[in-house]
Amino acid sequence: MLSILSTPIGNLGDITLRAIETLKTCDAIVCEDTRVTGQLLKHLGIEKKELISFHGNTDPGKVDFVLRQLKEGRHLVLVSDAGTPGISDPGYVVVSKATEAGAQIEVIPGASAFLAALSGSGLPINQFVYLGFLPLKKGRKTLIDSFKGEERTIVFYESVHRIERTLLEIGEALKEQPDRSVVVARELTKMHEEFVRTTVRDMPSIAGTITKKGEFVIVIGATP
Ligand code: SAM
Repeated sequence: MLSILSTPIGNLGDITLRAIETLKTCDAIVCEDTRVTGQLLKHLGIEKKELISFHGNTDPGKVDFVLRQLKEGRHLVLVSDAGTPGISDPGYVVVSKATEAGAQIEVIPGASAFLAALSGSGLPINQFVYLGFLPLKKGRKTLIDSFKGEERTIVFYESVHRIERTLLEIGEALKEQPDRSVVVARELTKMHEEFVRTTVRDMPSIAGTITKKGEFVIVIGATP
């Protein structure tokens, strides 16, 4: 059995009872960084659990190892460093190969940064498009330009290193839609959680003044 299990995105209180029980009773945990998962287990008082590190698509030998373990009837849990495995994180390959191999799968849902950002954004979220991280080079400008015609709310992840540049690029690409809403969600569920609710018009000033610390999700309202 493979349990795909979401972990908190900052606040360690955001873990479900079912997730804790599964982490306690499983045979081993397949994780991105054994130190990060080790810290979560320590917080939960779970000791001596086998951890199998897995770094995504670059690790085909590890996928075969995991598949063999599932075939032997072991109960494995798949986690990422934070949030939901496979959402801009490794995990997809393990799930895909495990289902192909006929392994039993279950999901133990929980936090994901884009869902938290959307729900706090105050923008219409009956329909949205999730873009993960924007490409750094190829296709970046074309994608940002395409936001002009997007009729659904747009949500994507950004790192502290690029937050200023990205906000400036949004301001430039959408300058003909100055009233369009932009919400920048920072450090969700953590001590310095912040929602900056603004518009395209204010992108240059927000890009300059926003606190350049922590993790970010950007949400853009649909085209008017
Ligand atoms: N799997 C994770 C999920 O389900 O949300 C996403 C992992 S991705 C590698 C990490 C990115 O998610 C960060 O760069 C940031 O954009 C976003 N993120 C994760 N935690 C966050 C938080 N607490 N507040 C704001 N953004 C966060």
